[in-house]
Amino acid sequence: MKQKAIIITAPSGAGKTTLVKKLLKNRDDLAFSVSACTRSKRETEVNGVDYYFLDLNEFRQKIKEEGFVEWEEVYEGTFYGTLKTEIQRIWERGRAVIFDIDVKGAIQLKKKLGEKAIAIFIAPPSEEVLSERLRGRGTESEETLRKRLSKSLAELEFQEQMDATVINDDLEIAYQDLYEKVSEFIES
Ligand code: 5GP
Repeated sequence: MKQKAIIITAPSGAGKTTLVKKLLKNRDDLAFSVSACTRSKRETEVNGVDYYFLDLNEFRQKIKEEGFVEWEEVYEGTFYGTLKTEIQRIWERGRAVIFDIDVKGAIQLKKKLGEKAIAIFIAPPSEEVLSERLRGRGTESEETLRKRLSKSLAELEFQEQMDATVINDDLEIAYQDLYEKVSEFIES
């Protein structure tokens, strides 16, 4: 297979992580690029599977070593980055790499990977639904939630810069739409 990359991006709360996990479960031609991040691990997460959880010094060291294709301070004081080694590892195994990444990171990756990549924006059906979904997650403090919400609303503006959009109203319909877009790109 040619070296291909699927960049899945969205405002936080649009449901992109659910869609990415579902794709990975059903397609063995894709593998997930595990990012590094400095936030604390949620209870259900596993180090090395969901993220490589690093402390700030370890993250800074990786930046210095030029270990990242891109990195961002996604939330104040919290860093996330895509590791060069992940992309190479996945391509060497003959799979397409899939990223779950914020909008700024998605634009960076698309710039670096060019024609090898498709950037797909997952959009919520409305701003109201986006707020409800963020609240419903229940893993964040009120302060964190407020920050995430204002950021998510601003991120809706980035949709036009992506290659394609999938509207996540009904999860099954969104999934089918995404699946078809991914298949078409991989076969191209
Ligand atoms: P969460 O803390 O909810 O897992 O992720 C917060 C945001 O960071 C999400 O939008 C997620 O997609 C994004 N993110 C995850 N990994 C990376 C990465 O490697 N680079 C960038 N720029 N954003 C990332």
